[in-house]
Amino acid sequence: MEKKFKIEFTESNVQDSVVYILVAEFNLKPNILKAQIEGDGTGVMLVSIEGEEADMVKAVERLKGIGLLVNELSNHITRNHDKCFSCGACVSICPTNSFTYDPVTWEVHVNTDKCIACGACVNACSVRALSLIL
Ligand code: SF4
Ligand code: SF4
Repeated sequence: MEKKFKIEFTESNVQDSVVYILVAEFNLKPNILKAQIEGDGTGVMLVSIEGEEADMVKAVERLKGIGLLVNELSNHITRNHDKCFSCGACVSICPTNSFTYDPVTWEVHVNTDKCIACGACVNACSVRALSLIL
């Protein structure tokens, strides 16, 4: 199975440690989708992890045990349909092609499974129709 997680940390050098723990200790396959480190060393990364669910549960506990804040991501984006007027701004800015434009109905559709919670569409939407759930 594959799940996505948001991992928050307070020291900039944890990225390699996280990958090592996931691979070496739990036989999981991590793929870092996005990582952002602030000047003070704190940061956040979004990771897609493939492997057995039981291993994933143990790995999350292990990461929490070394002080990381770990949350599973699901349905990261929501849209207020009353506000959305299908302008398409979110379609072109999304790095994972989570949005599609239907040329027949002129409507924008969203596939939340593809979302990596980067937040780009939230900022791009002029009527604030999109929100992140984290
Ligand atoms: S940017 Fe906002 S208004 Fe435009 S299609 Fe996307 S959600 Fe709808
Ligand atoms: S948060 Fe990022 S990945 Fe998710 S739908 Fe918006 S632009 Fe796409």
